[in-house]
Amino acid sequence: MSIIKLLPDSVANQIAAGEVVQRPSSVVKELLENSIDSGAKTIKLIIKDAGKTLIQVIDDGLGMNKDDLKKCFYRHTTSKIRNSKDLYSLETMGFRGEALSSIASVSHMSIISNQDANDSLGFEIKLDGGEEKSFDEIGSAKGTTISVKNLFFNIPARRNFLKSDNVELKHIIDEFHRVALINHNINFIFLNNNNELFNLSESIFKERIIRIFGKSTKQKLIPINEETDIAKISGFVFKPEYSRKTRSTQFFFVNNRFIKNSHLNHAVKTAYEGLIQDNLFPSYFLKINVPLNSIDVNIHPNKTEIKFDNDQSIYAILKSSIKHSLGQFNIAPTIDFNNNINLNTPYSFKDREASIPKVDYNQAFNPFENLTKPVDLKTKDFDFSNFDDSALQDHFNNELEILKTNSFPSFQLKSKYIITKTSSGIIIINQKRAHQRILYENFLKELSNKVNPIQTLLFPIKLDFNSEEIRMLKLIEAPLIHLGFKFNSFEPENIEISGIHPILNQNNVNELFQDFLKNKDYNQNNTVHTLNDLIAKLLAKYSSISSNESINVKLQESLVNDLFACKDPNVSPFGKLIFKLISLEEIIKIF
Ligand code: ADP
Ligand code: MG
Repeated sequence: MSIIKLLPDSVANQIAAGEVVQRPSSVVKELLENSIDSGAKTIKLIIKDAGKTLIQVIDDGLGMNKDDLKKCFYRHTTSKIRNSKDLYSLETMGFRGEALSSIASVSHMSIISNQDANDSLGFEIKLDGGEEKSFDEIGSAKGTTISVKNLFFNIPARRNFLKSDNVELKHIIDEFHRVALINHNINFIFLNNNNELFNLSESIFKERIIRIFGKSTKQKLIPINEETDIAKISGFVFKPEYSRKTRSTQFFFVNNRFIKNSHLNHAVKTAYEGLIQDNLFPSYFLKINVPLNSIDVNIHPNKTEIKFDNDQSIYAILKSSIKHSLGQFNIAPTIDFNNNINLNTPYSFKDREASIPKVDYNQAFNPFENLTKPVDLKTKDFDFSNFDDSALQDHFNNELEILKTNSFPSFQLKSKYIITKTSSGIIIINQKRAHQRILYENFLKELSNKVNPIQTLLFPIKLDFNSEEIRMLKLIEAPLIHLGFKFNSFEPENIEISGIHPILNQNNVNELFQDFLKNKDYNQNNTVHTLNDLIAKLLAKYSSISSNESINVKLQESLVNDLFACKDPNVSPFGKLIFKLISLEEIIKIF
């Protein structure tokens, strides 16, 4: 006798409901998301007894016609995908077609909908535990109203499992925050037991954050802005001193959807390293936009966890952009930036002009003029055409034009240090370390670029290695090729190199490769991020100017400006101090 049976729909839906509907807040989330997908401009959320008695969502969106209203509460009915390909190009919040069927199966539900703004009549369907009870014409404005009453009325165990009204309300408010923050272009009204908890009108992101978390939030925010081929990151983080004991103000929105991701959270946490105590959490409101086909949102029924194709790169970009903004914020009092500073970073070279901090000086005055002895620098070291960015080139040319008439107040000491002044004191910069930092960030940027220039060698370089060394070099072959290296052959005993990165001097190639091998920092288990980091560091080491090189005042200026456009101008890629500011107060104290 066969013992395997197909489960009745009602049971299957209740099982699915266990995944989708854990508590009233899950219903709130699903209904709000459906209203957003319907294109609503205004959404009203009304709850009674923390959602245990009633959860109602009223929207002015597209609405459903009679046929759709009769279908929408069946399992796997959705208007949002047609075929499996759509799963990878999703712009909507829903797609599983599980929410309404799941919620309907464990509640008393009513859905009123009207698709026609010129018709004051719509339809209402009533369901008990997922069973249709009535279907009638009813007066209604355009849009949809869904009411969910007596959640889990037919699963007493689940109902008993619900926490106090306070706890359940807290969950609902959390869910509301997540939806309302990112959908700041929509008006939201939220009533609990007839008390208005929120009344948010359409606004920009920053204003929405302040409206939700209070006026005092305004002074805590630092803007974040970063754009690369892989991801666009924008939003705000809290200044380190406003870090909190809870994680309740940590928000990632990927392609306009709230998500949880411990890996990205770690990236933010490490960006704050040294700035906050270990037991505190930084607050953040970050939008991450990535190409639709580079993520998988389908791994969890709640759709709050996602997988990125470029996990490691996004980690690195996120960490460095936050570090950069925090750095700008810390350094701002000592070096005067333009008022309207754009916090873009060297990753986005097209906006570079706006991100270069200007060192404050009297353009007509140059007490150091007689001290400088400009000598031409080997073109390689500062050949900006290598970056293949005409905007940057133009900018650099303009800078040179200006410099022809106004000398930059800097001079070199011992062909090793650059000394310049700011409004608040004197800065002494270790030129080699500064150049290494600039190059390091450029190499990292190039590693996330699609195409990079190449310097073809007239005579290929052949290097001998043992098989273990070849195995190690294989690990970094791909990123090196990405950076402009060309390998004619990769034999078990030797490699032949016919192209190298344009900024690298070919006399240093052998030493560079020996250094790659010396480095114990990498092995097969290393992430792309660690390998890229290592390559960028060593390339910077072998391409930078030396600590015994005269450079003219124009190049001194570009070095200073490029340094302070870096994400982390404080330390070299090898963790060494790059510059020291001697403040006016310190100088006054001396005398
Ligand atoms: P999904 O959102 O995954 O498509 P749901 O079960 O949440 O699945 O909803 C099923 C369908 O019902 C949706 O695809 C949509 O066509 C329709 N629907 C649900 N809520 C609304 C709404 N507020 N306005 C218009 N249509 C809606
Ligand atoms: Mg949905």
